[in-house]
Amino acid sequence: MPAHRDEWEQRLLADRKMLEVFATAIGGPFHVMYPARVVRNIRAFQAVFQRTGVPGTIYYGKKANKAACVVAACVQAGAGVDVSSLGELEAALAGGVRGADLVVTGPAKSEELLGAAVRHDALVAVDAPDELDRLAGTGARVLLRVLPPHSDSRFGLTAGEVEQALATLDRDAIRLEGFSFHLGGYEAAPRAELALRLIEYCREARYLGHPADTISIGGGFGVDYVPAEHWRSFLRGLNPLWFHRDRAPKPESFYPYHCPAPGPAMLETILAHRQLGARLRTADIRLAIEPGRALVDRAGSTVFAVQGVKTRTAHGHPYSILTVNGSSLSLSEQWFDTEYLPDPALWPPRPGRVTPACVGGASCLEDDMISWRRIPFPRAARPGDLLIYPNTAGYQMDSNESTFHELPIPPKVVLRDAEGAKFDWTLDGTTALR
Ligand SMILES: *Cc1c(COP(=O)(O)O)cnc(C)c1O
Repeated sequence: MPAHRDEWEQRLLADRKMLEVFATAIGGPFHVMYPARVVRNIRAFQAVFQRTGVPGTIYYGKKANKAACVVAACVQAGAGVDVSSLGELEAALAGGVRGADLVVTGPAKSEELLGAAVRHDALVAVDAPDELDRLAGTGARVLLRVLPPHSDSRFGLTAGEVEQALATLDRDAIRLEGFSFHLGGYEAAPRAELALRLIEYCREARYLGHPADTISIGGGFGVDYVPAEHWRSFLRGLNPLWFHRDRAPKPESFYPYHCPAPGPAMLETILAHRQLGARLRTADIRLAIEPGRALVDRAGSTVFAVQGVKTRTAHGHPYSILTVNGSSLSLSEQWFDTEYLPDPALWPPRPGRVTPACVGGASCLEDDMISWRRIPFPRAARPGDLLIYPNTAGYQMDSNESTFHELPIPPKVVLRDAEGAKFDWTLDGTTALR
């Protein structure tokens, strides 16, 4: 499944030395980040708000990627950050985000997290009635996170709990700025429908004297990893024989790797649905969004070095098992009974014959496979070659990494454009620029 590749990544792959220098200097797997792409992604969402005349605020869903350079890109482009732990809150503040530009989400927030949120004037998305009690008298800025109708989610307040909160909230003790939700899936219509419902809640809250001028529709903006035709033919042909040990994931377990209207286009669709945008404007309500994955789309890749090559036969055909110098913990999708499908590039480019290979991690676990499927590489891989997995910044690279086997956590190399189509680089979080 050939992935969309940004110009910066093509430039990196075409460079004769750079990847090799990083691989040698680091001596293990690493990630590459290109924060200029995050800035571009933020600007594309902002452009939708501008075009539609809907006042909007973007909060980066920080759990998608821990890199400091992403927070720096948010500061540069004027986006806030959505955090749900004290560590995330501290990292955002340390990266230069104003407290007032933070939204604190997540269930059953600790006393420390709520305290820090109040001190820094962050917006708190309240997930349970007791959080409101604990915030009483602090003057906290609050959104009520609602449980979507007919949802069995463990997050959010039921309609009864929202009504109860509205009936009892003291508007001098808490500043109710509005309502929020976060939906699973990547559909536009349910988000717009629920937002329309929350406009009514805002009206009710305003009637009771609360400011209630914000609706947050959470994240879940789709990302387009591979072209439509490749995704369709993959699903059509999906077959256990393609996979090492015949281990094909269930078709429904795959992330939807092709998305016809990703990120900002999805926001546009949401705003157009039943004239949500016009209704928000009329009601003078600001729309907040919390995209995680979509803000780091095409902003990072993961690089492993091939350490060993074996040849095996399955169903009468030979194939290679490549073992690389890292683990599947750097490709989180592998840990949800599914597989990350955008194909890695084999570097350096050399002439050769198409050779199918699966990719294993350097651990003693049978299941530590970075790619179960036999990828048709353009040539036979050999030790020292690099595999570059594209578009891994969103949830793949760093959410599950650990020091398993006492291997170090892969560092992140941050690339910035320099003169003559060259790159300057730093390690993430190590310079004032981050
Ligand atoms: C995870 C999460 C997000 C980000 O979701 P993406 O799918 O990465 O856009 C936003 N808001 C909340 C409350 C979340 O839990």
